[in-house]
Amino acid sequence: MIANKTIINAQSQPLNKIELIALLLFSAMMFFLLSQVFYLAHKYKQIETAEYNLVHGIQKPETKSMQETQTQTRSPKTRQETSVIETSTINKQVIENPKEEKIEPVTELVNEIFSDSELIALENQKIIDRYCETVGEKLGSVNVQDCKNAKLKLSGVVSNQSRPLTFRDFITEVPSETTKEKIRILLVGGIHGDEFSGVSISFKWLNKLANDYSSSTNSSINDYHWRVIPILNPDGLLQPDGQSKRMNANDVDLNRNFPTEDWDEFAHKYWIDKRGRDPRRYPGESGGSEIETQWIVQQINEFKPHAVISIHAPYGIVDSDGPIEPPKKLGPLQLKILGTYPGSMGRYVGVQKNIPMLTVELKRAGTMPTQKNIDLIWTDIQKWINDKVLNKESVAAMQSIRHEDEEHKDTIIDKKAGD
Ligand SMILES: [Zn+2]
Repeated sequence: MIANKTIINAQSQPLNKIELIALLLFSAMMFFLLSQVFYLAHKYKQIETAEYNLVHGIQKPETKSMQETQTQTRSPKTRQETSVIETSTINKQVIENPKEEKIEPVTELVNEIFSDSELIALENQKIIDRYCETVGEKLGSVNVQDCKNAKLKLSGVVSNQSRPLTFRDFITEVPSETTKEKIRILLVGGIHGDEFSGVSISFKWLNKLANDYSSSTNSSINDYHWRVIPILNPDGLLQPDGQSKRMNANDVDLNRNFPTEDWDEFAHKYWIDKRGRDPRRYPGESGGSEIETQWIVQQINEFKPHAVISIHAPYGIVDSDGPIEPPKKLGPLQLKILGTYPGSMGRYVGVQKNIPMLTVELKRAGTMPTQKNIDLIWTDIQKWINDKVLNKESVAAMQSIRHEDEEHKDTIIDKKAGD
C-alpha cells in the first residue's frame, strides 16, 4: 500500500523549473537538428544540379517550362548544323523527354567520339541502308549490296512519302593543265515506278561507272562528269509487292508534269482529248506541281547537263530530242522519233532547253536485257556522246531534222504511245 501511494504522489507532482528548462532546451535542439538536416538535403540537390550542368552543358530538365525553353534555344543551332538531317535525334530526345535521362551518358559518349558532321554522316548512311534494303527487296536484278555499293548520296529532298531522292556523281580531279570544261551527262532512271528494268539497268551502269572511275587506267573518263539518278520516282517503285505504279504517290505521271511552256494551255487538253483521261498519264494539277519534278528540274538547271539520258520501257527503241544528231541505234534498240508531249521530259529538256536527250526504251519492263545487250547499249551511248555531244558541228543538222519532224509529230504520237 505504501509503495502504491508513493507512485501516485510522484505522478501527480508538477514539473519543477529545472525540468521545464531542460525540456525546452531539448526541444530547441531537436528543432535545430531537423532544420540542419533539411538544409543539407537542399544543398546536396543544388550541388547535384550544378554538377549535372557542368558535365552536360545544359540545364537539367525539371519542369515543362524548362524543357520548352531548352528546345527553343537549341532549335536554331540545329538548323544551322545541317540541311540534310534535322538534328542529332539522340540529343533531342534528352531535351524533350526527361524520362529518358538514362541514355544521357551514352549520348555524351557518342558526342565525345564523333563530331557533329560525323554523326550526320552516320544518320545519312542509316537512311541510305534502309533505302537500299527496300530497293533490294523490290528488284530481282539489284540486291541490297549492289545498291549499297552504288554509294548513293542523299539530295536532302524527299518524295511525298518521305523516301529520299538520291544521286551519285562521277568526276575525276585532273591536273590543272587540262582545265577544259568537262562534258556533263545526266542519267535518269525510274521516272515511272513500274518500269523495273529501267531502274535495274541504271544501277548496272552506275556500278560500271564506279568501277571505271576507281581504276586509274581509264583516262577517257577525265572528260566527263556523270550524274546518275537511278530512281526519280521512289514512291511509285517502292510500294509493297504488286503495287508498284507508273505514277508518283499523288497519282501524277511525272513524265507529263515537267513545266513546259505549253503546259497550261495543252497538258490537260491533250490528256482529255487524246488520252481519254487515262489515269496512268494524268499530268497533275499544274506544270511542276510534284516534288520529284521540281527536284529534277532543279538538277537540270543547276548541273546544266550537255546531254540527258532517260531510261524507260517497254517499247524497245531509242527516241531522241534536242539539237544534235541522234544515234541510229543503241545496241538492239533502233532509233524511232516518237515526238514529245506537253509536260514530258523530252519536250522540256530537248525542245525547250535545247539539251540533247536520249529516251532509252528497253524492250520489257519486268525483264532485264541480256548482259551482252546491256553492254552494247552502254557502248553505243558512249559512242554517241563522243561523236555527237562533243561535236558541235552536228547541231545544225539536228535542227533541220527536228524542224521536219514538227509537222508529223501529232500523227507519230497517236500511232505510238511511247514515253
Ligand atoms: Zn516510262
